[in-house]
Amino acid sequence: MDDYELVIGLEAHAQLRTRSKMYCACPADYQDAAPNTRVCPVCLGLPGSLPVINREAIKSIVKIGLALHCSIAERSKFDRKNYPYPDLMKGYQISQYDLPVCADGRLDVEVDGAARRVGIERVHMEEDVAKLSHLSDPASGEGYSLIDVNRSGVPLVEMVTRPDIRSAEEARQCLMAYQTILRYLGVSTANMDEGSFRCDANVSIRPKGSEAFGTKVEVKNMNSFRSVFRAIEHEAERQAETLRSGGRVVQETRGWLEDKGVTVSLRSKEEANDYRYFPEPDLPPLSIAPAWVAEIAELLPELPEERKRRFIAEHGLPAYDASLLTASPGLADYYEAAVAAARAQGGTERTAKAAANWTITELGRLANEAHIEIHESPVTPERLAELLGLLESGELGTAQAKRAVEAMFQTDKSARDVMTDLGLQQITDSGELAGAAAQAVADNPQAVADYLAGKETAAKFLVGQVMKATRGKANPSVAAELVAERLNAMKAQE
Ligand SMILES: [Zn+2]
Repeated sequence: MDDYELVIGLEAHAQLRTRSKMYCACPADYQDAAPNTRVCPVCLGLPGSLPVINREAIKSIVKIGLALHCSIAERSKFDRKNYPYPDLMKGYQISQYDLPVCADGRLDVEVDGAARRVGIERVHMEEDVAKLSHLSDPASGEGYSLIDVNRSGVPLVEMVTRPDIRSAEEARQCLMAYQTILRYLGVSTANMDEGSFRCDANVSIRPKGSEAFGTKVEVKNMNSFRSVFRAIEHEAERQAETLRSGGRVVQETRGWLEDKGVTVSLRSKEEANDYRYFPEPDLPPLSIAPAWVAEIAELLPELPEERKRRFIAEHGLPAYDASLLTASPGLADYYEAAVAAARAQGGTERTAKAAANWTITELGRLANEAHIEIHESPVTPERLAELLGLLESGELGTAQAKRAVEAMFQTDKSARDVMTDLGLQQITDSGELAGAAAQAVADNPQAVADYLAGKETAAKFLVGQVMKATRGKANPSVAAELVAERLNAMKAQE
């Protein structure tokens, strides 16, 4: 790829979490419903049925447009996109062609520490299609297909970027940033596994320094952020090899095969005019009053980028920690609740940083192993705050606190209860530790001799022996003081 530059544009589809479907009153929540139970003449595409625009869906797409810094059209309209496929009940999809609700926005991402701005061409409203299952009869071996129309008509928002993306990693970051925004807005579950968030990539390459675009190939069937990355890397390499060997890239749609790690040709790419778009005659044009848009703008929550900047300023976090903690609204809320609880319990300036460390490292690891989100863990923000308090007061040492948080995760108990149950309290009482210090000195004459001969590090070894004897529960600075006292007394006697 050294001689070529990669050019990528993304198309992402997100299902909206509205109560009803886009153009009828059927419930949009179809995931757990028995097949073909959430249907009516409109979403079945029966002749004579008439669609109605879902106001809540328009409100959601306006929120998305505002979050992506788009301009919101005062006049928008719906168009029929015609294509014959069995998952499309009417034979056309009600989508938007030349007057989308949102246009000309941007998405800011960070790739390998560098800020990148990707243009958003448009965000438009459309509807999902029915779901096909291709099966085969076990007796005859004959193939057949089942169709479930529940998904048909679920509101779908398509976001199209400009061809501003220059690497597979940048594409992955863009999608993740967009997913995070959708979740902050609460308009979509944006879950790639469940299919409520899907993406296609338009990939082309051109000689470095060239302004003209190469022939683009649309890549489909990428079911995770990882496969988006792998598919784009592979497709770019395939195109470069084609050009290097004197061939030419054909405009087409290719599918990513996850297990084989390759893209394969699906069909030659349709041009827009293949769809014979025309204005939807059953729906009126859509007027979106600027006053309503202003009202919606007031409802927008703090978005990921702003929240990240605030975490850096307000909690003194490094940018990297702030990005991790703002990756989902649930996690960011968890972190802020923990900081607030720690402050209420008398935490100091250092608490915010400590809360970030413990959330990201220890809780992150435990939640990851248990396949849950951190904010769903039994270690509530209040319990984490209590643990931080015990660390700060010296009742728990770091190693003990790690054991405590694991036990809290497993037993659903408070930090103090776990500390008492497991006897994890740090020993700070010098009376209690004096015996262990005396023992360490008595048991290790060589280390003592080394120390008296001027080798100061020998004292550290002796402190280590005290820690070992107390199974790590001795307060290290109290132990060091006691060892130093003994050694200095011996030195004075010499
Ligand atoms: Zn319906």
